Amino acid sequence: MKMGRTTRQLLNNWQKLKMRYLVPGKLTRLGDTLTIELTNRCSLTCSCCPNGCDRSSCRPPHTISDADFERLLSQIDIPFSRVFLHLHGEPFLNSDLPLIANRLISHGVSELSVFSNGYHIDIKLLESLLNVTSGHNLHIAFSAELYSRQTYETIRRPGRFEEIWRSMEQIDDVMKRHQRTYTVNAIINEQAIDTLPHTVPDLFSRLQQLDEIHLNSAFPWPHLPQTGEIAGHLQSRRSICSQIWQLPVILASGEVSMCGSDYRGECIVGSLWEHRYSELINNDAARRFRRNIVLRKACRNSICADCLIDRHISFSRTVKRKFIEKANDALLQKYFAKFHTYFTLIPQ
Ligand code: SF4
Ligand code: SF4
Repeated sequence: MKMGRTTRQLLNNWQKLKMRYLVPGKLTRLGDTLTIELTNRCSLTCSCCPNGCDRSSCRPPHTISDADFERLLSQIDIPFSRVFLHLHGEPFLNSDLPLIANRLISHGVSELSVFSNGYHIDIKLLESLLNVTSGHNLHIAFSAELYSRQTYETIRRPGRFEEIWRSMEQIDDVMKRHQRTYTVNAIINEQAIDTLPHTVPDLFSRLQQLDEIHLNSAFPWPHLPQTGEIAGHLQSRRSICSQIWQLPVILASGEVSMCGSDYRGECIVGSLWEHRYSELINNDAARRFRRNIVLRKACRNSICADCLIDRHISFSRTVKRKFIEKANDALLQKYFAKFHTYFTLIPQ
């Protein structure tokens, strides 16, 4: 049943009231989605990411083995059915990825999601992952600005546009053999918008298994406003960050953090090697963190103090293959021209 706007607002206000005063900082309705980082190592050093801008302050590198993952899973004592297997690193740098995916499926997980940069990933590993997840719900997305050499090389790695295309063509072949589709995630900037009516259809014709392209603006990471598209894209009023309604993320080190953007390890509330997940979700540190946000005192959380994510107006559109195949030139021009409105927001 679809919820009306008023009902949703009432429900949100009730949740805020509960978290503020009735059960301070406590998450009472647990979601069914977990985010688990398999590694925080990456093969790229993108300019939109702490790995590229502030590597020295990132958490020490960790990659979780399948044996450790088995122990970690035994510490997760809440029901969950969906898992995101990525956070700050490249999941295909973890050679146990297929074993871990298989373990999660055996555990009863019905939906897995893996985001990769697609850059020189191990094709055999991808094949193994597709084999173990055959017949199950696996969503794979590759982050790459394939529509523009200049954008890709500015964001990801100079001089490597041909290489990412070679990697993506190999990936597309494998996906075709396994009759699977995938998504491409790409950051857009204003200069590239006028090229999209030509470059996006071209991308779909070159990559036959590509199902959709997710185009979005870069967001500013905590302490690193330069990573995001922020000029004119900030709301004047600080909103309540949606992270507090979600389950804390699980890092490759086995630690549990309150924020998905915690590249420094600033808001870790404990470790799964010492506590069960249910003990960490609502321990004192977790409740204090949420309460600070819901009382609009987020600055008391060091990671939130200068974070712009909750004030940031982001841009995001999903372009489907079905739409591109049906659309004529005029419709494509009109559709992509609308993207300019985001970039022409008046600075506040
Ligand atoms: S944005 Fe993604 S691919 Fe790029 S360095 Fe960060 S984690 Fe790696
Ligand atoms: S305000 Fe920023 S740092 Fe704080 S929880 Fe939200 S996204 Fe994370």
